[in-house]
Amino acid sequence: MAGMTLLVVRCPSCGNALAPGDDDLVVACQQCGAGLHLADDGPQSIEIQYAQTNLAKAGTWRPWWIFRGSVNLIKRETQGGNRSDEARKFWAQPRVLSVPAWELSIAAIKQVGVQMLKQPPTLNAIPRPSGAPFIPAVVSAEDARKMLEFLILTLEAGRDDWLKSLDFQIEAGPPELWAIAAE
Ligand SMILES: [Zn+2]
Repeated sequence: MAGMTLLVVRCPSCGNALAPGDDDLVVACQQCGAGLHLADDGPQSIEIQYAQTNLAKAGTWRPWWIFRGSVNLIKRETQGGNRSDEARKFWAQPRVLSVPAWELSIAAIKQVGVQMLKQPPTLNAIPRPSGAPFIPAVVSAEDARKMLEFLILTLEAGRDDWLKSLDFQIEAGPPELWAIAAE
């Protein structure tokens, strides 16, 4: 065995041995449920907030990076048609801005991400539920911020006009990691 290093990742809360996938960034300990950020120098605790659900039975809990804040449209130019008033109205209020954090194709990120921007979730934290598994997060908070810009662009390009250019600014607090139930 000379020259081999066996790295065992252990939960800092309960000592349970963890077997994260190669791309996993945030997992929940299967024994105690603690949220763990798999940093290069070992696992660190991270708060995962579980959102109240209307589902009768949650099959899984999916990770979302949540930014609470505003999107300021500075300039929105089109080549025909004009939905800019509609866009301004849409972004006039502070919003819950969500970015999917589990492993998804780009097409799926666009689909579920834009849907969630259009219909922001109601976030009431509940005690950590037992049973249904937490799907690991593979997206970092930094990447989520970039993905949020991409989702806002996608949403705006999807309005019924010919978007030519969009200049906007996101003013948001630090990202929070939430688990939202899915069937
Ligand atoms: Zn644990």
